Amino acid sequence: MSDCPVCGTVVEAHTETYVSPYNKQEYKKYECPTCDVHWWEPLKIIPEFYESETFESYVTFHEFQRLRIGENHKAFFENIPKDVKGRLLHVGCGDGVFLKEAQKHGFEVWGIDFDRKSVETAKRHLGVDTIYAMSLEEFYEFAKERNLKFDVITFFEVLEHQGRPMEFLRMVKELLKDSGYIAGSVPNNESIFWEELHRKNSWGDYPPHHFLRFSRKALYNTLKIAGCQNIEVLPVEIPQQEFYVFVERKLFGNLDRLKVWLKTKIIGDKRIARSVLVEDLNNISSSKSIAFLKFLKRMRNLLLYPFTLFYLPKLKTDRYNLYFQAKI
Ligand SMILES: [Zn+2]
Repeated sequence: MSDCPVCGTVVEAHTETYVSPYNKQEYKKYECPTCDVHWWEPLKIIPEFYESETFESYVTFHEFQRLRIGENHKAFFENIPKDVKGRLLHVGCGDGVFLKEAQKHGFEVWGIDFDRKSVETAKRHLGVDTIYAMSLEEFYEFAKERNLKFDVITFFEVLEHQGRPMEFLRMVKELLKDSGYIAGSVPNNESIFWEELHRKNSWGDYPPHHFLRFSRKALYNTLKIAGCQNIEVLPVEIPQQEFYVFVERKLFGNLDRLKVWLKTKIIGDKRIARSVLVEDLNNISSSKSIAFLKFLKRMRNLLLYPFTLFYLPKLKTDRYNLYFQAKI
């Protein structure tokens, strides 16, 4: 038995169990019939997990700034009303790639992240010192003492990590000016693309990484219960890169090991090889063989192209990510 962390409905039975390879903890998944949020018990985040670097994608966050903003970030610049300007706080800013774009759009940028190395990278790239290695709880106290308020607070792919989502949203709300905006994104629990890429052969969408899962309805309800107004939940398409990986897996199974092996041969570091795109390898290494990998990738895309057409109707309906924005 467990209480829904969003609406408080008592749910009797769990629907799935999962044993994390990270801490050998057994987690149970519950599904709320009232608000449609899914969550894992024990619902307790483990801060050390993020510092342990066991989760590969964080390793590159620590060392490099990614080169491109995500589709979910683009949704913000496309949808946020043009008259929304001023001071923007990004919770979970990582290497600052989104903040850099926000800075170009004229926002006064602030950021927080658990990770010290990412914060240093972000500060260097943005040329500002308003980025802190703090949790939201710590920053909340810091901001209260200085009477700091924000026009916009963004959190992309952050809400699904929370153990106490309503407490998280309450703090965000108190840091906003009157009529301030929140915006961000979560993975879509109803997407088969997401399921194929992040649940099969991966622990990315399981605890102690992600504790919560949101459908469009669940996300809307969560924001409503948190007291938001003018709520918009918009679907974001799967990035083209990942769409090709999805089709590749459908046809050939998981080729990640082969791909990582090839990249490691060329750049020498297996951890970096796992999370850097072939297109971005030139930023890390000057090896001549990178051109060969790029050629291989173009050949793969050419080969997969006819099969991608088969999945195009799915692409129109099955949306990968959910972008949200709302007024407080
Ligand atoms: Zn609920």
